[in-house]
Amino acid sequence: MDGKLVDWHDAHVHVLTHSLHYATGVFEGIRFFSTSKGPAVFRLGDHVTRFFDSAKIYLMKMPFTPGEITEGVIATAAASRLDEGYIRPLAYYGYGEMGLNPLPNKVSVAIAAWSWPSYLGEEAERRGVRCLVSSWRRIHPSILPPQAKATANYANSALAKVEALKAGYDEAIMLNMDGMVTEATGENVFRVKDGVVSTPPASTGVLRGITRDSVITLMKGVGLQFRRNDFSREEMYTSDEVFLSGTAAGVTAVREIDGRPIGSGTWPVTEQIKKAYDDAVHGKSPEYAHWLTPVGTS
Ligand code: PMP
Repeated sequence: MDGKLVDWHDAHVHVLTHSLHYATGVFEGIRFFSTSKGPAVFRLGDHVTRFFDSAKIYLMKMPFTPGEITEGVIATAAASRLDEGYIRPLAYYGYGEMGLNPLPNKVSVAIAAWSWPSYLGEEAERRGVRCLVSSWRRIHPSILPPQAKATANYANSALAKVEALKAGYDEAIMLNMDGMVTEATGENVFRVKDGVVSTPPASTGVLRGITRDSVITLMKGVGLQFRRNDFSREEMYTSDEVFLSGTAAGVTAVREIDGRPIGSGTWPVTEQIKKAYDDAVHGKSPEYAHWLTPVGTS
């Protein structure tokens, strides 16, 4: 917390922490994975860049440099003594002045690391997840900037997630105000149709996922055809395959959406991409070794 390693049980904030009341924080979700050379953080530089971009969009003055945040992430991962885990940098306005203007308050940065083997549930990830198209639309960019990974955006995600879980589904997929598919509550969405893989462009109002970008790069590497284009709810229903991508969830097949089974129940393209991703994060693909930062060599 603010540059010091703090024991898990002592990592407290004041109840009047500004960001707790007004959702004025920005954060990142990063993973580190086991490799033959020890644990390594996946695409750390890209996560740190997005963290600073999120702060910039909100005029939040980060009290650390990108280099210091990079070192903090590595130090936190190392201190966790885990081989694999999830890392959460959070920049937030602390206790100071209440009221809607966050700027008078001190900006603090906390970085936490913990073990989080399966975000959507191990069985769901193995068998494919069941998704609900949410009745909550994705935040329009004129209301909140979806490309800032800001805590405020997750009120929208949490409403959709709870709606899906209460209806017996694993995850929600949200449409934008034009009725086009955007993303899931914490993952980007891809569809496969007639051998072509596509994902909605950033202009639909999605977070530019770092896993999404990795998937796009990996697909080109294995010769899959890819297009960034809008697709509708019914085009999603009639896809051959649909999958989700995100740091927490990895690459996960979708087996059903709104009670409609997707494709024939096999996911050859998704499996191919998932394998390429798993190989890259575990340091088994020399061409993507530059995506990995070893833990402990800051
Ligand atoms: N969309 C949303 C809304 C998310 O919260 C996330 C998770 N950060 C993603 C997409 C996927 O982004 P990434 O691959 O960078 O984790």
